[in-house]
Amino acid sequence: MPKQILVLGGGPAGGAVAIGLRRMGYPVTLVSEPRPFDAVEGISERVLAGLKGAGFYKALQTVAPASPRQVTWNGQTSAANTEHLIVRPVFDAALLQDLISHGIELVRGRIRRQLSADGRYVVEVETSDGTVECQGDFLVEARGRAAPASGIPRVQGSKTLSLLQYWQGPEGPARSAVQSFTEGWAWMAQRADGRRYLQLTLDAGSTELPAKQALGDWCRRHLERLEQAHPFIEGAEPVGDVHARISTPVLCERSAGDSWVRVGDAAMAVDPLSGNGIFQALSSALQAPAVVNTLLQSPERGELARHFHEQRIEGLFYRFARIGRDFYAQESQWPDQAFWRKRRSWPDNQPLHTDVIPQQVSIDRRPVVRDGIITEAEVVITPDQPLGIWHLNGIELAPLLRRVRAQPERSAGDVLNDALGDSRGTQLALWMSQQGWL
Ligand SMILES: Cc1cc2nc3c(=O)[nH]c(=O)nc-3n(C[C@H](O)[C@H](O)[C@H](O)COP(=O)(O)OP(=O)(O)OC[C@H]3O[C@@H](n4cnc5c(N)ncnc54)[C@H](O)[C@@H]3O)c2cc1C
Repeated sequence: MPKQILVLGGGPAGGAVAIGLRRMGYPVTLVSEPRPFDAVEGISERVLAGLKGAGFYKALQTVAPASPRQVTWNGQTSAANTEHLIVRPVFDAALLQDLISHGIELVRGRIRRQLSADGRYVVEVETSDGTVECQGDFLVEARGRAAPASGIPRVQGSKTLSLLQYWQGPEGPARSAVQSFTEGWAWMAQRADGRRYLQLTLDAGSTELPAKQALGDWCRRHLERLEQAHPFIEGAEPVGDVHARISTPVLCERSAGDSWVRVGDAAMAVDPLSGNGIFQALSSALQAPAVVNTLLQSPERGELARHFHEQRIEGLFYRFARIGRDFYAQESQWPDQAFWRKRRSWPDNQPLHTDVIPQQVSIDRRPVVRDGIITEAEVVITPDQPLGIWHLNGIELAPLLRRVRAQPERSAGDVLNDALGDSRGTQLALWMSQQGWL
């Protein structure tokens, strides 16, 4: 009898793990309630590919075509970018429809309490028909930033708050814009139907905010000072209350146990500046089914699987944190303002990329995913890729690098052509040189 999986939270991360495990043949129950607020977010082309790979076909149909994005940063404006806007309540509702199509049991409601009984996970869920209990042998925690994390040590960046105000104006082409200002940065988006989402991201520790009822005027005053905001607010009016979202970067230092994993924002949440939240949620979730499968089918490899999961979550977190740091450091107009001072040097001063030299390249065994199970394989490790590179277009790299190193008198292309039995070796030798391996 396959073990029952219980997934808490039906955003992109919980949904992707649920589909992945269902595809492996596990019975999956997913419990979720809609987010309590409206929001628009921007995603890139590569997220579309990730959503397709994960099986979110109905959710993909709700994504708007690419629209222009203007960025004003450090006093310079660029209009080279585009992004796809998604209306989260609509996108999230379609995502739940996808789950049903994949054969996942969906329970709509608010998780009130988590209990444990006889080694099983049990949660109490408040649904529109009353309170029900849902159970599973394995728990996937994917309730986003709202997921309880008591007892789990966490790494946190500077406390950050995003204030979101909705405006309504005439219909017009969809678009978005970003602009930095003294106390933070603004992201502004307009849907084709005239609804606008104006978001100010601020340092929660140093910004003095007014009382709740005065927040709307406070946001409006700040927006009026921003040149990029003008096209969004002219001829439009705010609608409803300001909504505050916590956007502090946070990493849970434990994200897997013998019978549970955390994925998506519940495992680590990044600064919204990178616009990569959904991408990282999917990245952490796409590898998780193999981790869960290993913990359930090959418990003797449990430590390897947990290590694999936690290392990847941590790697993603620091990569996005450093991308954010470097982008914040490009803004030099207000070096003494707390917002900018704190963010341009966090989480560390390690470069995002380092030039690799052959002496730094080694071969070692590391956990990898093979046929849905975490196992160990030889990989090539560099300062840029500490978790190692296993394959390139289906070709295992470590044995080939070893062959090249064993025959220093021959050209790498010749060695690799011989090893592969065709002329792909010449291309591969060039690639290895470009990576700094040779
Ligand atoms: C201000 C801000 C702006 C952002 N902008 C962008 C952007 O432009 N682009 C981008 O890619 N990312 C953006 N993000 C990040 C993005 O929202 C998240 O990274 C992403 O949604 C994480 O996916 P997830 O599945 O882990 O969690 P979520 O999408 O948060 O899903 C969690 C689900 O669990 C449900 N849930 C929570 N608690 C309970 C409970 N007790 N009972 C039942 N259900 C529950 C929630 O309602 C939700 O449906 C932004 C984040 C913030 C804070």
